[in-house]
Amino acid sequence: MGQKTLEQKLAILSDAAKYDASCASSGTARRDSRDGKGLGSTEGSGICHAYAPDGRCISLLKILMTNFCIYDCAYCVNRVSSNVERARFSVDEVVTLTLEFYRRNYIEGLFLSSGIIRSPDTTMADMVRIARTLREEHNFRGYIHLKTIPDASPELIEEAGLYADRLSVNIELPTDASVRSYAPEKDPATIRKAMAQVRLKKEEHRDRSHTGKRPRRFAPAGQSTQMIVGADASDDLAILGNARRLYSSYGLKRVYYSSFSPIPDSSSALPLIRPPLQREHRLYQADWLLRFYGFELEELTAPAREGMLDLDIDPKLAWALANRARFPVDVNRAERETLLRVPGFGTKTVNRILTTRRFRTLRYDDVVRMGANMKQARPFVTLGGWTPGSLTDSADLRSRFAPPPEQLRLL
Ligand code: SF4
Repeated sequence: MGQKTLEQKLAILSDAAKYDASCASSGTARRDSRDGKGLGSTEGSGICHAYAPDGRCISLLKILMTNFCIYDCAYCVNRVSSNVERARFSVDEVVTLTLEFYRRNYIEGLFLSSGIIRSPDTTMADMVRIARTLREEHNFRGYIHLKTIPDASPELIEEAGLYADRLSVNIELPTDASVRSYAPEKDPATIRKAMAQVRLKKEEHRDRSHTGKRPRRFAPAGQSTQMIVGADASDDLAILGNARRLYSSYGLKRVYYSSFSPIPDSSSALPLIRPPLQREHRLYQADWLLRFYGFELEELTAPAREGMLDLDIDPKLAWALANRARFPVDVNRAERETLLRVPGFGTKTVNRILTTRRFRTLRYDDVVRMGANMKQARPFVTLGGWTPGSLTDSADLRSRFAPPPEQLRLL
């Protein structure tokens, strides 16, 4: 077979990247070129943030540098033993594609991951060269997210952080035992060491030197990681517990939960354990509640059975239904912590409530205007013009929110 064209490579390597969870450029430092110098910006008019139905941002050029790989991770479509079609971009091709897409305003940046070719260092060196060429030769000021290779040398990872807005090191699976079984060439301790290095470097680059000189920025949008869920038997309690440790130990901005998809090739060995996207969605919701709503892990997993979140209703609603004695709460009097636990109330709504009720008593229509989802909140609150009466304790309350049971298909 002859050489692949750039378009053919793009088709293969953007499709291969769909298993990598990515993010929007939120959280990065402002960098733009509206002064006429350089190219692109991380924010500003004309840049479209588009999200796929599963919530992933699609405004980045998201590609693998190559889907050739010398490793054999059982959950990965690109593993050496897989029979997928392979392709590889040169450094110059990735640079050209990024610049072309950027100029046409298709993207706001680059998300680059890669299979491992020849060695972790060779692969990481090429990825760094792409980022360096974009920044230094083309003055590219858009967003760059690099997936680092934990086994690569610390010097390469440090250099990557000087050019990328965000670095990520994949934790791969929820437990060390699963990583050892399904990704035999990877070492959980090395992965954590790479995360610790990124954290350390970020802190080192934050402080001015004794001469007052500002150091070069290092991964200003921080680091993230990706955990594949559904490839092993870990329950949601174990997954969220691991994520919580990662957030606190390595200062992660984000843990991405990526549903394991049965690999579309005949040699796939791992079975599908639970409906993948719905589980991924519930894990994101629970993760959010743990980080921004004051919930404890045990509270969220208590209503569920056997350490799994309820797939049919969101974790906050599941918690409220299991703790009805704490409701209804008076929206005009309850403390912030209590309001944050009301299903249908987000942080913005709660902030608006707290601000406005200083001046007047809130009524039902007010909180609707503030963005509350009253369909969810109604059974759990009282306020001017509304009291739930016996609704809070009604036996069929859960069924008002959960989807109706479906007849299982027998064949
Ligand atoms: S190292 Fe990465 S690309 Fe290679 S098989 Fe493992 S997960 Fe897939």
